[in-house]
Amino acid sequence: MKAQPIASHFIDGEYVEDTDGTVIESLYPATGEVIARLHAATPAIVERAIAAARRAQPAWAAMSPTARGRILKRAADIMRERNRELSELETLDTGKPIQETIVADPTSGADSFEFFGGIAAAGLNGSYIPLGQDFAYTKRVPLGVCVGIGAWNYPQQIACWKGAPALICGNAMVFKPSENTPLGALKIAEILIEAGLPKGLYNVIQGDRTTGPLLVNHPDVAKVSLTGSVPTGRKVAAAAAGSLKHVTMELGGKSPLIVFDDADIDSAIGGAMLGNFYSTGQVCSNGTRVFVQRSIKETFLSRLKARTENMVIGDPMDEATQIGPMVSFDQRQKVMSYIEKGKAEGATLVTGGGIPNHVTGEGYYVQPTIFADVTDEMTIAREEIFGPVMCVLDFDDEAEVIARANGTEFGLSGGVFTSDLTRGHRVVDQLEAGTLWINTYNLCPVEIPFGGSKQSGFGRENSLAALEHYSELKTVYVGMGKVEAPY
Ligand code: NAD
Repeated sequence: MKAQPIASHFIDGEYVEDTDGTVIESLYPATGEVIARLHAATPAIVERAIAAARRAQPAWAAMSPTARGRILKRAADIMRERNRELSELETLDTGKPIQETIVADPTSGADSFEFFGGIAAAGLNGSYIPLGQDFAYTKRVPLGVCVGIGAWNYPQQIACWKGAPALICGNAMVFKPSENTPLGALKIAEILIEAGLPKGLYNVIQGDRTTGPLLVNHPDVAKVSLTGSVPTGRKVAAAAAGSLKHVTMELGGKSPLIVFDDADIDSAIGGAMLGNFYSTGQVCSNGTRVFVQRSIKETFLSRLKARTENMVIGDPMDEATQIGPMVSFDQRQKVMSYIEKGKAEGATLVTGGGIPNHVTGEGYYVQPTIFADVTDEMTIAREEIFGPVMCVLDFDDEAEVIARANGTEFGLSGGVFTSDLTRGHRVVDQLEAGTLWINTYNLCPVEIPFGGSKQSGFGRENSLAALEHYSELKTVYVGMGKVEAPY
């Protein structure tokens, strides 16, 4: 299987190579096979990308929002027409089952281009402020060159979620995908050009943790939006602070999902499974601490175990497959070491816990794993695992579970299952997190703001809220009379 792109980078409307950069091997996680060889950006490539973005941005910003929006909407249409091809590429890049990528990856990227393309005219308006005979008005102006840095779990979605709001506001973007998943963003750049985006406005360069700082520290960059882990977020925010760049931080989590005894138990189990096993558990907002009220614990666990053991693990290109491999060998090692810690610290292994032996070859598979009798102090209840490992914790009452749910440095998301809607609202109101769900989990349509609080980050992606993070207000005070100076 091969997925070799024309070249490693996409700058100023075309593919660009510089073989002086360190080699990045793209491995298909289901087999470990090398499917493409790329090169990390050299400092010369970084300069070239930022210079192209800087050159192109003023003319783009001078276009009407509607004209910019038309191009983004065309890109959305092209992505939908090529959904299968893009989904297969996403599966090669990440190992995620095609059953998922075909409905969740290019399509959510296309939603983002369509949404931001469509709301441009209204969303970018300023305001008029009457001041007696004088008045003031505000304009929403772009920031300039924005840098996007992506994680490996949703490469195409992340490339679009950052690109669409940045572009509609009149910015240019330089996007660096994760070194684990270098392929998808290049296609997004190609499609934008095909849709009519002027060259230089959406550039993609490859690289790893040594390339990112070249972008973050660059004096011509106005904003950095990172999707990644909390330790990386701290480094990027600190570096960006050196030159007071705008930042959006979409970081990790250890989110609570609370199931009360009056919940529709099968829906709650479905929500918990989606919120732990979708994308083989590699989702930042997953509800990995599942708090189950003690009186329904046995029923919950037995039905959950049966449904989990029925999941289809296998070839991600087979449409029947529900669980694919982890993205990399290292990530699987990390997940396996957490599973061992869970066992060693006394959690009860309900199912999974190993590498499935019926999946042959060198793929990075892990069984969907459930631990019960997990306590708040255990490592698996405190640290983000980023794999298919669900921790079930027991609780007795509402006040107790809210306090325990909030007992974490993270604050990305959370959820509640209950048939008492008053309680549902009361509980989410007290959960310290940026995105919350009642009687569902992990749904993130482009219409709603998404992002974290506490150590999970700041800034919001999607919805009108994202526009505030890719633009700033310019205020103009207009004097209509004579200036009365006291001297
Ligand atoms: P990571 O932090 O290792 O890497 C993220 C990106 O940052 C990569 O592109 C990497 O090359 C780059 N990077 C690393 N060090 C850098 C530095 N010093 N300066 C600039 N760039 C640097 O994260 P990952 O392992 O790719 O992704 C998994 C993490 O991402 C998890 O913690 C997950 O929760 C988080 N995540 C968050 C969201 C969200 O929206 N909140 C979404 C997906 C993933």
